[in-house]
Amino acid sequence: AKAKGKQTVEVFRDAMHRAALERLELTGELQHAIGDEQFELHFQPIVELQAGNIVGCEALVRWGHPRRGRLAPDEFIPVAEDTGLIVPLGAWILRTACMQMVRWQAAGIADDMRSMSVNVSTRQLRDPGFPAEVRSALAASGLDPACLTLEITESLLVDDRMLILQQLSQLKALGLRLAVDDFGTGYSVLSYLQQFPIDILKIDKSFVAGMEIAPDRAKLVRGIVELGESLNLQIVAEGIERAEQAAQLRAMRGPLGQGFLYSRPLEPDAMTALLRRGMPV
Ligand code: C2E
Ligand code: CA
Ligand code: CA
Ligand code: CA
Repeated sequence: AKAKGKQTVEVFRDAMHRAALERLELTGELQHAIGDEQFELHFQPIVELQAGNIVGCEALVRWGHPRRGRLAPDEFIPVAEDTGLIVPLGAWILRTACMQMVRWQAAGIADDMRSMSVNVSTRQLRDPGFPAEVRSALAASGLDPACLTLEITESLLVDDRMLILQQLSQLKALGLRLAVDDFGTGYSVLSYLQQFPIDILKIDKSFVAGMEIAPDRAKLVRGIVELGESLNLQIVAEGIERAEQAAQLRAMRGPLGQGFLYSRPLEPDAMTALLRRGMPV
């Protein structure tokens, strides 16, 4: 048993060592990849649940890694956050998303699509240069600020409230909208909803998952929808995968929806095609 324990420790240590090396390697590659334009944005429609039309979309980054293939954000955003590389990467994401939205508007296929949503990480939002970065992305693309939504996670609103409030106020002054992402998963008290200039709550997909079989979860979702109504906040339900979930959400009136039931995140060309032909109802 003792030998086995020692073996386990060694295996564990090896794994840790490999993970550290992997991280180091990824950091170097990430640095290179930003200059080398190895990233791409995919877009997932956000739909109005009654009529099924596309009223917005969320930009989701992928890394087309030359050797590892296409990497999902969970595989590299945390490293980009820790190393600060999220700042230049985030600037690229923001500019690219704004330019794409302008292209769709210019093509006349974004009449219903009022907003482009871009995810903003903690490190980015805390960066004093961030509001200026957003302003310059808007100016460079010519995108109407009212057509940009920035998604921030709930947990971000907990620490350093003064700094965050200052940053968010500067962003709001540009004329854009702010969404709280993964709403309900944070541990913060709801008082921030009054304190911060929030426009949208995105109900985390963990609440939507199983709401058709778990009445408690459906009640929770309804509670959030009602909260949104009373605070005059737009609600977006994330992770809709099943028709039953969509039906339940439609009956609540109000919320917008996003999820694989409607569409997976799409490459720009596929999103363009979807915008041209419209969402099948
Ligand atoms: P998120 O912001 O909550 O994005 C939604 C995630 O849920 C996406 O995963 C999307 O593909 C997935 N999703 C959408 N509909 C469904 C569904 O019906 N069922 C399920 N199971 N999943 C669904 P993705 O693209 O892998 O992104 C994961 C996370 O990575 C995002 O979560 C976001 O936190 C982060 N991320 C993605 N793109 C960016 C970015 O450009 N910048 C930053 N800072 N973070 C990003
Ligand atoms: Ca998001
Ligand atoms: Ca989310
Ligand atoms: Ca998330």
